[in-house]
Amino acid sequence: MKKKQFKTESKKILDLMINSVYTNRDIFLRELISNASDAIDKLYYKSLTDRDVKLDKDDFCIRIDLDKEDRIIKITDNGIGMTEEELDENLGVIAKSGSSLFKEMNEKNKDINIIGQFGVGFYSAFMVAKEIKVLSKAFGSEEAYEWISDGLEGYSVTKSKKETVGTEITLYLKDNTDIESFDEYLETRRIEGIIKKYSDYVKYPIIMSVEETTTDDDDKKKTEIVDKTINSMIPIWKRSDDEVTEEEYNAYYSDKFFDFEAPVKTIHSRIEGQIAYDSLMFIPSHAPYDYYTKEYEKGLQLYSNGVLIMDKCSDLLPDYFSFVKGLVDSEDISLNLSREVLQQDRQLKLIAKSLEKKIKSTLEELLESDREKYEKFFEAFGMQLKYGIYSSYGMNNDTLKDLLMFYSSKEKKRITLKEYIENMKEGQEKIYYACGESLDKIDMLPNVERFKDKEYEVLYLCDYVDEFTIQALMEYEGKKFANVASEDVSLDTEEEKEALEKKNEEAKDMFALMKEALPEVKNIKYTNKLKNHPVCLSTEGAISLEMQKIMNSMPTGEEVKADIVLEINENHPIADKLKDLYESDKESLADYTKILYNQARLIEGLNVENPTELTNLICDLMSK
Ligand code: ADP
Repeated sequence: MKKKQFKTESKKILDLMINSVYTNRDIFLRELISNASDAIDKLYYKSLTDRDVKLDKDDFCIRIDLDKEDRIIKITDNGIGMTEEELDENLGVIAKSGSSLFKEMNEKNKDINIIGQFGVGFYSAFMVAKEIKVLSKAFGSEEAYEWISDGLEGYSVTKSKKETVGTEITLYLKDNTDIESFDEYLETRRIEGIIKKYSDYVKYPIIMSVEETTTDDDDKKKTEIVDKTINSMIPIWKRSDDEVTEEEYNAYYSDKFFDFEAPVKTIHSRIEGQIAYDSLMFIPSHAPYDYYTKEYEKGLQLYSNGVLIMDKCSDLLPDYFSFVKGLVDSEDISLNLSREVLQQDRQLKLIAKSLEKKIKSTLEELLESDREKYEKFFEAFGMQLKYGIYSSYGMNNDTLKDLLMFYSSKEKKRITLKEYIENMKEGQEKIYYACGESLDKIDMLPNVERFKDKEYEVLYLCDYVDEFTIQALMEYEGKKFANVASEDVSLDTEEEKEALEKKNEEAKDMFALMKEALPEVKNIKYTNKLKNHPVCLSTEGAISLEMQKIMNSMPTGEEVKADIVLEINENHPIADKLKDLYESDKESLADYTKILYNQARLIEGLNVENPTELTNLICDLMSK
């Protein structure tokens, strides 16, 4: 018999499983029961939709048997079973859920003990077993097969015998050592406790043989072995909200959605009326490692009266809430819905609409009641909300605008747009923002200086989606957004504006000459915006410098160009110097112009197109 090797990644997980000294070993049972329940789900679903399957719901069960003498735990189910190929494919490689966890661990460099808090499916059984035997007969197959492994090198699959369809998993418990004992898992009470704790809501009976002492009519005590159903079998979402503890919700969440961190919010609701359904949704506290990639699939589980009909029903969630995990169970949804029909389904659309409202109101409440948690949420998924606004060209503004947060120059933390409006200065008409690579860099921008000086609050935008989002929003509560680096944004009074205009008019010829040295610049002018800085750049029209940077870094091949204006601080000594040069040394004026323009580019975080020219110019100037 040829032994097959585990795949490399599986081996790594196995090593961690077997060798991790402290872990929550108990969860192995939850994992195996959960697999058994899934396998029964599959066959039960067949029995409902396929006339050839003659099975009744009551026929299904999961059995746990303990054998103290031989140190064996046996988990038996009458679910769909596995074929020879399935045994090889499913148990030969680490489960999908496991490998994603492994990636996440690698990325974050987390402690390997995480495995214990969570588990990686079937393999977790190797935490307690030195050898595992899986005997299975698949539905519709005549043959049974046996998978055996010690979890170290590899496994083998051989033909075997089994009367009934389903799977029987035999765990040969590890030997006790000086530091570890595994005897506890042979105690009925202990196993009962683990089932109650982790698997109470499993829909099918989990049956164990237990000793029961009864007293007969003659007052004689009699002890006999009877079969007892350990779990309550009521799915967690069918229980009333005040009956379920936060711990139970969290355990359910981590078990079903493979996340070891508790969600920031659990939403459990029962809706009656036009359409009736139960829903249990979770808002994770961090983004899954693949969240911002194409691989991530959004969706909620869809149950029809307790039967799982779809694992990821994407139509139930709008893209901007794609981070929500959970399920919907409705008696009004037909069991036989196919994927195509599902999209058209009116009931489903109604449910989706009402879920969306619920998620929105829950997030708004969270923002009100627990700022810290909301910010944690926003840290993880704020990008998705912003994306939701700009990718729909503003169609979702009303749903999302109050969930947004941006960093404030005054508060030095994130604030909402509502808060911005509330704090606006008297007579302030616009919502000011500035864009840049990082908060620190924005804070140093010359354009921002004047606004800070006059105590205007400025929103600092440094996510690449931010400015696009702002543009799609257009306004908030009637207040338009204005980029402080936009050429037409000014804090000047009418008189100041007029005076400046006059000066610009007077210097018209000088600027025209300077512009000859800078063909790439649209305009050159004096400004009152600046305090200490000699120059800054602004833009005319819709494309800002930040947008130009972002759009040109995208692989679309299209070049966009912002209309750049070089603004010169009229109160800076350099302004007089330029005037002098214009009178007496026109040649040097061109060099000064180039240097000033490149300085402004550097401050904006733009690159200098001709660094050699720039350094030569500076050197010339220094040696004069
Ligand atoms: P996961 O359950 O996360 O997919 P596991 O490693 O626990 O990962 O299981 C791998 C696969 O093996 C399952 O997806 C399922 O297809 C199959 N499997 C495991 N246990 C059973 C079982 N009792 N009956 C039928 N199939 C099973």
